Amino acid sequence: MTQTYEPCVFCGHDDLVLDCQVSIRAALDADVTRCRHCGLLYVNPPPTSEKIAQLYDATYWDPPNLGAREASRRYHRQYRFGAAYGRGLGRLLPEGRMLEIGCGLGFFLKGVADHCDWDVEGIDVADGLEVFAREKLELKITQRRFEEAQFSDGQFDLVRAKDILEHVPHPMSFLETVRRILRPGGRLDLWVPNGMLDLAPARRAFKAGMRARMGAGHLLFMAPRVLGAMVGKAGFRVIHASVFSFRYALRSLGLWTSQPRSLAVAAPAASTSQQPLSEWQRPAPEQGLRGTMFYARLRGWRSCHPALPAWLPLGFEQRFVVERT
Ligand SMILES: [Zn+2]
Repeated sequence: MTQTYEPCVFCGHDDLVLDCQVSIRAALDADVTRCRHCGLLYVNPPPTSEKIAQLYDATYWDPPNLGAREASRRYHRQYRFGAAYGRGLGRLLPEGRMLEIGCGLGFFLKGVADHCDWDVEGIDVADGLEVFAREKLELKITQRRFEEAQFSDGQFDLVRAKDILEHVPHPMSFLETVRRILRPGGRLDLWVPNGMLDLAPARRAFKAGMRARMGAGHLLFMAPRVLGAMVGKAGFRVIHASVFSFRYALRSLGLWTSQPRSLAVAAPAASTSQQPLSEWQRPAPEQGLRGTMFYARLRGWRSCHPALPAWLPLGFEQRFVVERT
């Protein structure tokens, strides 16, 4: 173990082993260590607040070469998901207060707000979002890091964090803050990539002497078992835990060869070459009729979407709905 590593950000043990090396958004060359005690894989040492601001600048949520058509498609899709989510919420509970962490421009939240009577608000670290959300979508969005926001104890009935926890360098303080702002019995809807599959291409590249470029900028890689232990330790009871997105899983394992996942392998580890824009030249497998059918299946609270229980960790994505104890 190298002296610069920090003890495990989940369990605090320092029995760490180097798992692989990655280049995160072409802005940070980092080691990923595995904790032998709990199994968490994470970027070590965790980046500072300044480095994180650099990693997730405005190009992260509004990439420069996204294009108007793809941006429009993406935002409409978020709105439709929000609408389905809002209808589901209304059936569960007629009224309540919801916070979305990492809400982006707020199209998902707008979909929720338009289809149920819940009070919704969002928070996102990216600069400039709140003006758009307030003036164009009439939403309340705070521009701040979640851990630094001034929410009251027990303020919300539901907190949704989709694809957020894997970007958080210290997950326990994040989860404990969520618990604090939820009322007793309130729920957290957590969507996180399955860390083992998320990191699989980078591990293969490392074994071949390469450093993989991770465009998604993930800092934590949690298997469902580890995520379950984390939420339990933070004071939540698991209501629902599932895995899905099996095509992405096959792709990460190198078993789906039609198009590679958004991961480019940079030159060998010693290289310093940087091609940030290339990170956003993602394949677009959802184009065309096939894509329409694929996303049609995701509608309606994803109720029609094939999923497996999380103890079978075969899907690329995992979803945990947990209740504050
Ligand atoms: Zn650990």
